[in-house]
Amino acid sequence: MLARLAPMAWGSLTMPLRELLRMEAERRRAIRAFTAGGGLELTGGPKQQEWFMNRIREAMLRSRSFEALMNEIRNDSAHPIKVGLSNKAPDVFVDGFYSNLTLGSQELDLDDLNHLPTDPLPDHPNAITRGEVLAHAMAEARQGALGIEGDRGEYEAAHDKAIDAQNAYRDDLGQKGHRRHHPDDGGFNAAGNFEMRYDNGYSEIWVKGDAPRSIDKVVRSSPTQTGSSYDAADDLKKSMEGTR
Ligand SMILES: [Zn+2]
Repeated sequence: MLARLAPMAWGSLTMPLRELLRMEAERRRAIRAFTAGGGLELTGGPKQQEWFMNRIREAMLRSRSFEALMNEIRNDSAHPIKVGLSNKAPDVFVDGFYSNLTLGSQELDLDDLNHLPTDPLPDHPNAITRGEVLAHAMAEARQGALGIEGDRGEYEAAHDKAIDAQNAYRDDLGQKGHRRHHPDDGGFNAAGNFEMRYDNGYSEIWVKGDAPRSIDKVVRSSPTQTGSSYDAADDLKKSMEGTR
C-alpha cells in the first residue's frame, strides 16, 4: 500500500494542485481515447466490441494497475492477446484461458460479466466487480501470450499472475480481502456453482442457471469485518503517518 501511495504523496508535496489536476485530466483523456488494436485483438460483433471496450475504459479509470496492464498489452504488438467475445456462450462460464488451444487467447462471456457490478456495493463493499474479473482475464491472457512457463505449467503460472492482477485491482478500489493462489483460489462447489473465498472471510458464489452455462445470480457473504469505501485523502494521510 505504501509503495503505491508514495509517488502520490511526493507529488502532492512538491506539485501545486493545479498541476495534479492537469495530469489527472490528461490521464482521463488518454483512457477515453484507448481503443483495441496493437497487442489487443478482439473478435465478436461490433456491439459486443463496443460494450467490452467501454467496460475496459471504465475499469482503467478506476485502477492505475489495470490502466498500466492495458497499456502494456496494447503497446506489445509482438505478443498480441486475442479476446473472443460472446453472449451466453454454451461453453464459456465467465472466461476461458487457452481457447482454441492458443496461448494468449481468452474467451469472455459478456452476459456473465454483466451480472457483476461496476463498483462495490454499499451493503457488500468487498464484492467482486466486473473490473476485477477483467483484470484477471486480461492478465491471464497477457501471461499466456508471453509464453513464460512457470514451474507449475502455463495455465497455473498465468492464473497466479491473474490473481495478483485482480488483487491489485481490489487494492486500487480500497477493498479488503485478497484471493489466494491455487489451490486455495476457490472453484466449483458440490452444487456445481463457482465459489470464491477471500483471505478476510468474504465469499461469493456465482450460481449457474440451467442452460446455457451462465451466471444466474450472485450470492455474497460478508464477514463481520467489512471493508470501507476508498478515501484517497485518508489513505494519503495514513501513509504519511506511516500507519499503513
Ligand atoms: Zn484464471
